[in-house]
Amino acid sequence: MTRILLVEDDEYLASALVLALERKKYLVDLAKTGAHAMQSLFGDRYDAVLLDLGLPVVDGIEVLEELRKQDEELPVIIITARDRVEDKIKGLDKGASDYLVKPFDFGELEARLRAALRKSNYKNSTQIKFASLSLDTNNGQLQIAEEAMELTPKEAVVLKTLMARSGKVVSKRQLMDQIPDWLLESSENAVEIVVHRLRKKLENSDVNINTVRGFGYILEARP
Ligand code: CA
Repeated sequence: MTRILLVEDDEYLASALVLALERKKYLVDLAKTGAHAMQSLFGDRYDAVLLDLGLPVVDGIEVLEELRKQDEELPVIIITARDRVEDKIKGLDKGASDYLVKPFDFGELEARLRAALRKSNYKNSTQIKFASLSLDTNNGQLQIAEEAMELTPKEAVVLKTLMARSGKVVSKRQLMDQIPDWLLESSENAVEIVVHRLRKKLENSDVNINTVRGFGYILEARP
C-alpha cells in the first residue's frame, strides 16, 4: 500500500481528494494544519506528501523546510492556489518534488504523483540521517560512518526523536511521550538512563547529545 499524507485545510477539496485517491487504492491520511502535518510526518512513514501552501498558522513552506531537515528524499508535491512564478521557485528551492496550481485536474495530480513515486523509489525506506549517523527506524540498526551498531528499541526511539529535531532542544517530557511505558512510570530517570547509554554508543561518532540544563537534550554535530 502506498501511503500518502494530504495536507489541505480546505475541507471540500480535501474530502474530494481523499475520496479520489482512495479510489485509486492509496492509503490517505489528512492533516488540516501545518502543525498536524508535522506531527503526522514525525510519527508515521509516508511514501509521498501532497502539500497545500496556504495553511493557517504554520505555512506549507515551513512544513516543507522542517520536513527537509529530517528527510531529504520523501516526495512532496505542492498543491496550491499560489501561481506566481516566485512561489513556484521558492517551493522547488525548498525541496518540493513537483508543483501543481489549483484548480488542477485529478488525473494530472495522480500522474505526477506516480512519477514522483517512481523517481524516488522511496517506498519502505526507513532511514533517518544526521551527520555521520544513519538510523534504520524499523530495526534499530545504527550506522556510524562505516561502523554498524545495534540499538535497543528505546534507544532507537530516543535517538530517532533527537535526530529528527537535531539542533533543537528536546525535553525529557517529549522523549517520554514517544514511549508509552515511560508515561505510565512517569520516569524522567528512565530517559536519563537511555541517554547515558546512547552517549556511550555515540562516543566515537561525530555527534554529541548535549544537556540543556532545565530543558532537555540537544543533538549536535561536534565542531
Ligand atoms: Ca489552503
